[in-house]
Amino acid sequence: MGQSDMKIDSVAVIGAGTMGSGIAQVCAQTGWKTWLFDVNREGLERSCDSIDAYWRKGIELKKNSVEDVNLWKENLEPLYSLNDLVKSIDLVIEAVPENLELKKEIFQKLDEITDKETILATNTSGLPISKIANSTNYPKRVIGMHFFNPVPLMNLLELVKHPEIAQETIDFAEFAGEKMGKKTILVSDTPGFATSRL
Ligand code: NAD
Repeated sequence: MGQSDMKIDSVAVIGAGTMGSGIAQVCAQTGWKTWLFDVNREGLERSCDSIDAYWRKGIELKKNSVEDVNLWKENLEPLYSLNDLVKSIDLVIEAVPENLELKKEIFQKLDEITDKETILATNTSGLPISKIANSTNYPKRVIGMHFFNPVPLMNLLELVKHPEIAQETIDFAEFAGEKMGKKTILVSDTPGFATSRL
Protein backbone atom coordinates (compact mmCIF):
# COMPACT_ATOMS: atom_id res chain seq x y z
CA MET A 1 0.00 0.00 0.00
CA GLY A 2 1.47 3.40 -0.93
CA GLN A 3 1.23 6.40 1.38
CA SER A 4 -1.46 7.92 -0.88
CA ASP A 5 -3.78 5.00 0.03
CA MET A 6 -3.16 5.34 3.76
CA LYS A 7 -5.62 6.97 6.10
CA ILE A 8 -5.79 7.31 9.86
CA ASP A 9 -9.08 8.14 11.56
CA SER A 10 -8.62 6.92 15.09
CA VAL A 11 -5.81 6.11 17.50
CA ALA A 12 -5.56 4.98 21.10
CA VAL A 13 -2.78 5.81 23.53
CA ILE A 14 -2.27 3.44 26.46
CA GLY A 15 -0.81 5.13 29.55
CA ALA A 16 -1.50 8.80 30.25
CA GLY A 17 1.78 9.71 31.98
CA THR A 18 4.49 12.05 30.73
CA MET A 19 4.83 10.44 27.30
CA GLY A 20 1.29 9.15 26.73
CA SER A 21 -0.31 12.51 27.39
CA GLY A 22 2.15 14.26 25.02
CA ILE A 23 1.54 11.64 22.32
CA ALA A 24 -2.26 11.88 22.74
CA GLN A 25 -2.09 15.66 22.56
CA VAL A 26 -0.22 15.57 19.25
CA CYS A 27 -2.54 12.87 17.84
CA ALA A 28 -5.61 14.99 18.66
CA GLN A 29 -3.94 18.05 17.09
CA THR A 30 -3.22 15.96 13.98
CA GLY A 31 -6.97 15.58 13.52
CA TRP A 32 -7.37 11.99 14.68
CA LYS A 33 -10.03 10.73 17.05
CA THR A 34 -7.79 9.98 20.03
CA TRP A 35 -8.68 7.67 22.91
CA LEU A 36 -6.43 8.03 25.96
CA PHE A 37 -6.44 5.16 28.48
CA ASP A 38 -4.82 4.77 31.90
CA VAL A 39 -5.45 2.35 34.77
CA ASN A 40 -5.34 5.34 37.09
CA ARG A 41 -8.63 7.15 36.51
CA GLU A 42 -7.61 10.27 38.41
CA GLY A 43 -4.30 10.42 36.56
CA LEU A 44 -6.16 10.10 33.27
CA GLU A 45 -8.46 12.98 34.11
CA ARG A 46 -5.51 15.07 35.26
CA SER A 47 -3.75 14.42 31.94
CA CYS A 48 -6.80 15.46 29.92
CA ASP A 49 -7.08 18.62 32.03
CA SER A 50 -3.42 19.50 31.55
CA ILE A 51 -3.64 18.98 27.77
CA ASP A 52 -6.66 21.28 27.77
CA ALA A 53 -4.76 23.87 29.84
CA TYR A 54 -1.81 23.69 27.40
CA TRP A 55 -4.16 24.35 24.49
CA ARG A 56 -5.93 27.22 26.29
CA LYS A 57 -2.57 28.78 27.09
CA GLY A 58 -1.83 28.59 23.36
CA ILE A 59 -4.98 30.64 22.69
CA GLU A 60 -3.83 33.28 25.21
CA LEU A 61 -0.42 33.39 23.52
CA LYS A 62 -2.15 33.60 20.12
CA LYS A 63 -0.42 30.40 18.98
CA ASN A 64 -3.71 28.47 18.66
CA SER A 65 -7.08 29.58 17.34
CA VAL A 66 -10.23 28.96 19.38
CA GLU A 67 -11.63 26.96 16.44
CA ASP A 68 -8.60 24.65 16.34
CA VAL A 69 -8.67 24.10 20.09
CA ASN A 70 -12.38 23.26 19.96
CA LEU A 71 -11.71 20.66 17.26
CA TRP A 72 -8.74 19.19 19.18
CA LYS A 73 -10.87 18.93 22.33
CA GLU A 74 -13.54 17.05 20.42
CA ASN A 75 -10.88 14.66 19.11
CA LEU A 76 -9.53 13.76 22.58
CA GLU A 77 -11.56 11.29 24.64
CA PRO A 78 -10.65 9.52 27.89
CA LEU A 79 -11.10 5.75 27.82
CA TYR A 80 -11.89 4.19 31.17
CA SER A 81 -11.64 0.53 30.18
CA LEU A 82 -9.54 -1.18 27.52
CA ASN A 83 -12.55 -3.41 26.83
CA ASP A 84 -14.31 -0.35 25.41
CA LEU A 85 -11.63 0.14 22.75
CA VAL A 86 -13.15 -0.04 19.27
CA LYS A 87 -11.88 -3.08 17.34
CA SER A 88 -11.38 -1.14 14.13
CA ILE A 89 -8.97 1.42 15.57
CA ASP A 90 -6.14 2.26 13.12
CA LEU A 91 -3.21 2.65 15.52
CA VAL A 92 -2.52 1.98 19.19
CA ILE A 93 0.54 3.52 20.88
CA GLU A 94 1.51 2.05 24.25
CA ALA A 95 3.28 4.29 26.79
CA VAL A 96 3.04 2.43 30.11
CA PRO A 97 6.06 2.14 32.47
CA GLU A 98 9.25 0.50 31.19
CA ASN A 99 8.47 -3.07 32.29
CA LEU A 100 8.68 -5.89 29.75
CA GLU A 101 6.13 -8.17 31.43
CA LEU A 102 3.60 -5.32 31.72
CA LYS A 103 4.09 -4.34 28.07
CA LYS A 104 3.74 -7.97 26.91
CA GLU A 105 0.53 -8.32 28.90
CA ILE A 106 -0.88 -5.17 27.29
CA PHE A 107 0.10 -6.26 23.78
CA GLN A 108 -1.53 -9.66 24.29
CA LYS A 109 -4.72 -7.91 25.35
CA LEU A 110 -4.52 -5.48 22.38
CA ASP A 111 -3.94 -8.47 20.08
CA GLU A 112 -7.21 -9.99 21.31
CA ILE A 113 -9.36 -6.88 21.20
CA THR A 114 -8.30 -5.15 17.98
CA ASP A 115 -8.67 -6.09 14.30
CA LYS A 116 -5.52 -7.73 12.99
CA GLU A 117 -5.04 -4.74 10.61
CA THR A 118 -4.56 -2.38 13.59
CA ILE A 119 -0.92 -1.28 13.96
CA LEU A 120 0.38 -1.72 17.50
CA ALA A 121 3.27 0.51 18.58
CA THR A 122 5.32 0.71 21.76
CA ASN A 123 7.09 3.82 23.00
CA THR A 124 9.65 1.79 24.97
CA SER A 125 13.01 3.51 25.39
CA GLY A 126 15.00 0.33 24.99
CA LEU A 127 13.18 -2.93 25.75
CA PRO A 128 13.46 -5.52 22.94
CA ILE A 129 10.64 -4.85 20.46
CA SER A 130 10.89 -8.43 19.18
CA LYS A 131 10.00 -9.79 22.64
CA ILE A 132 6.95 -7.54 22.81
CA ALA A 133 5.98 -8.34 19.18
CA ASN A 134 6.46 -12.08 19.58
CA SER A 135 4.15 -12.17 22.58
CA THR A 136 1.29 -11.46 20.10
CA ASN A 137 -0.24 -13.62 17.36
CA TYR A 138 0.56 -11.05 14.66
CA PRO A 139 4.09 -9.74 15.37
CA LYS A 140 4.27 -8.30 11.85
CA ARG A 141 1.98 -5.43 12.88
CA VAL A 142 4.03 -4.44 15.94
CA ILE A 143 6.61 -1.61 15.80
CA GLY A 144 8.57 0.65 18.15
CA MET A 145 7.57 4.32 17.92
CA HIS A 146 10.05 5.99 20.24
CA PHE A 147 9.00 9.58 20.90
CA PHE A 148 11.03 12.08 22.89
CA ASN A 149 10.01 14.27 25.79
CA PRO A 150 8.28 16.74 25.53
CA VAL A 151 6.45 15.12 22.61
CA PRO A 152 4.69 18.26 21.27
CA LEU A 153 8.08 20.02 20.94
CA MET A 154 10.53 17.25 20.01
CA ASN A 155 10.72 16.65 16.28
CA LEU A 156 12.49 13.31 16.18
CA LEU A 157 10.64 9.99 16.13
CA GLU A 158 12.66 6.79 16.14
CA LEU A 159 10.89 3.85 14.46
CA VAL A 160 12.20 0.51 15.65
CA LYS A 161 11.89 -2.57 13.44
CA HIS A 162 12.38 -6.22 14.36
CA PRO A 163 12.84 -9.40 12.30
CA GLU A 164 9.12 -10.30 12.06
CA ILE A 165 7.84 -6.87 11.04
CA ALA A 166 5.93 -6.30 7.77
CA GLN A 167 7.08 -3.52 5.42
CA GLU A 168 3.46 -2.20 5.51
CA THR A 169 3.81 -1.64 9.26
CA ILE A 170 6.98 0.41 8.76
CA ASP A 171 5.32 2.40 5.93
CA PHE A 172 2.27 3.04 8.09
CA ALA A 173 4.35 4.24 11.07
CA GLU A 174 6.37 6.55 8.79
CA PHE A 175 3.12 7.93 7.43
CA ALA A 176 1.71 8.42 10.96
CA GLY A 177 4.91 10.10 12.18
CA GLU A 178 5.00 12.49 9.24
CA LYS A 179 1.34 13.42 9.78
CA MET A 180 2.26 14.20 13.40
CA GLY A 181 4.93 16.56 12.10
CA LYS A 182 7.85 14.36 13.16
CA LYS A 183 11.08 13.52 11.38
CA THR A 184 11.27 9.72 11.43
CA ILE A 185 14.38 7.57 11.43
CA LEU A 186 14.25 3.80 11.11
CA VAL A 187 16.50 1.78 13.40
CA SER A 188 16.99 -1.86 14.29
CA ASP A 189 15.97 -3.54 17.50
CA THR A 190 19.34 -3.37 19.23
CA PRO A 191 19.91 -2.44 22.88
CA GLY A 192 19.39 1.29 23.37
CA PHE A 193 18.29 1.81 19.69
CA ALA A 194 20.14 4.59 17.83
CA THR A 195 19.63 7.78 19.81
CA SER A 196 20.35 6.26 23.22
CA ARG A 197 23.63 4.86 21.80
CA LEU A 198 24.56 8.21 20.23
P1 NAD B 1 4.95 7.62 33.35
O1 NAD B 1 5.22 6.88 34.60
O2 NAD B 1 4.94 9.11 33.36
O3 NAD B 1 3.53 7.14 32.77
C1 NAD B 1 3.12 5.81 32.71
C2 NAD B 1 1.60 5.78 32.85
O4 NAD B 1 1.17 4.44 32.60
C3 NAD B 1 1.11 6.16 34.24
O5 NAD B 1 0.14 7.19 34.11
C4 NAD B 1 0.47 4.87 34.77
O6 NAD B 1 -0.67 5.08 35.60
C5 NAD B 1 0.09 4.17 33.47
N1 NAD B 1 -0.09 2.72 33.59
C6 NAD B 1 0.55 1.84 34.42
N2 NAD B 1 0.09 0.59 34.18
C7 NAD B 1 -0.85 0.69 33.18
C8 NAD B 1 -1.67 -0.25 32.52
N3 NAD B 1 -1.64 -1.56 32.80
N4 NAD B 1 -2.53 0.20 31.56
C9 NAD B 1 -2.61 1.53 31.29
N5 NAD B 1 -1.84 2.47 31.88
C10 NAD B 1 -0.97 2.05 32.82
O7 NAD B 1 5.99 7.06 32.29
P2 NAD B 1 6.56 7.79 30.98
O8 NAD B 1 7.74 8.60 31.33
O9 NAD B 1 5.42 8.41 30.25
O10 NAD B 1 7.13 6.53 30.15
C11 NAD B 1 6.27 5.66 29.43
C12 NAD B 1 7.10 4.86 28.43
O11 NAD B 1 7.76 5.76 27.55
C13 NAD B 1 8.21 4.01 29.06
O12 NAD B 1 8.34 2.83 28.32
C14 NAD B 1 9.44 4.89 28.92
O13 NAD B 1 10.64 4.15 28.90
C15 NAD B 1 9.16 5.53 27.57
N6 NAD B 1 9.84 6.79 27.31
C16 NAD B 1 9.93 7.75 28.29
C17 NAD B 1 10.57 8.97 28.01
C18 NAD B 1 10.64 10.05 29.04
O14 NAD B 1 11.46 10.98 28.84
N7 NAD B 1 9.83 10.04 30.11
C19 NAD B 1 11.08 9.21 26.72
C20 NAD B 1 10.95 8.21 25.74
C21 NAD B 1 10.31 7.02 26.04
